[in-house]
Amino acid sequence: MTITKLRLIIQHLGFLVFTYGGFFRINLGQSIPCLSCPFVYSCTGFCYLMMLQRALGTLFLPLNATFTGVDPWAGVWQNFLNVLAGLLAFSILVIFLGKSWCGWLCPFGLVQDWITRLRRKLGIRESEILIRQKEKLSIIKYILLVYLIVMPIMAGVGWLPIDFILAFCNICPAKALMPLFAGDAQYIAMDFSTSVAMGFSIALTLVTASMLIGMFFKDRFFCLFCPMLALMNFYKKLYLLKLAKEPLACHGCGNCRRTCSMDNETVYRERVKRDVYDADCMGCFKCAEGCAADKSLLVKLGPLKVFSSSRRYAARI
Ligand code: SF4
Ligand code: SF4
Ligand code: SF4
Repeated sequence: MTITKLRLIIQHLGFLVFTYGGFFRINLGQSIPCLSCPFVYSCTGFCYLMMLQRALGTLFLPLNATFTGVDPWAGVWQNFLNVLAGLLAFSILVIFLGKSWCGWLCPFGLVQDWITRLRRKLGIRESEILIRQKEKLSIIKYILLVYLIVMPIMAGVGWLPIDFILAFCNICPAKALMPLFAGDAQYIAMDFSTSVAMGFSIALTLVTASMLIGMFFKDRFFCLFCPMLALMNFYKKLYLLKLAKEPLACHGCGNCRRTCSMDNETVYRERVKRDVYDADCMGCFKCAEGCAADKSLLVKLGPLKVFSSSRRYAARI
């Protein structure tokens, strides 16, 4: 079995479990490092981005005058410990699997791959313009990460309306699209209950529409903006499952560059270092599979070699 086939099977199993596991009372916890969206009522594992926003949004709530009878700072301390506990669980998962969460398990990543497959079936080529703009666009995910951290805190201390506690979720296209797979269209409907809710509804509609267009013309377009990928990049040096290169074995065929859905150049260009895990890499290992040089690209789990590129394997696929 090839890496691609195995990945496809795991991606689809992951999609089924993350999206419908709730029907079978499966619970994978609240710190999942991929977009397993809790807005899907039958979901199984909770995307950490929501948990982080909630934890930060409620961090300073005990200082609110309506909380009486307990030391408010003791409450803040307790909430801070909760933030750390969530972060610890998230960190363990990210360190173990690295960004392979994105390439192998993220349900929203798979939805993007389905859209790409549809485009290919229709015989439409990937947009060269979007590929050229990739580096500029991918900075946006760090801006969104700051937005995702700052807005909930500001809402929690009362400087912004309470809707900002889930500031990123309220504009996340997964919120609009993923519940559709469970037959729930409520998040694509406009919410006119308050002016802030209406503003978020309009923003969500615009973001979702532009992402759908982008995802059709560029593979994994949303991943360029995803704050989850930005957050995972902070663990780059610690991943156990990772991609490595033996620069002396590379003969520059360029297969790694051509097969990469994220259009990463690092694997191809690096001629000295072994660490070739690009900031936008999603850990799919298609590049290692397609590499036609013996032992040039390696997939490693800690010190163990899990896969090593070879001319024979590349010719077979
Ligand atoms: S970067 Fe892409 S694959 Fe990774 S969590 Fe975000 S949407 Fe999912
Ligand atoms: S809306 Fe997006 S960020 Fe929020 S929980 Fe769902 S997938 Fe995560
Ligand atoms: S660099 Fe390799 S592992 Fe990373 S996204 Fe591209 S093909 Fe996948």
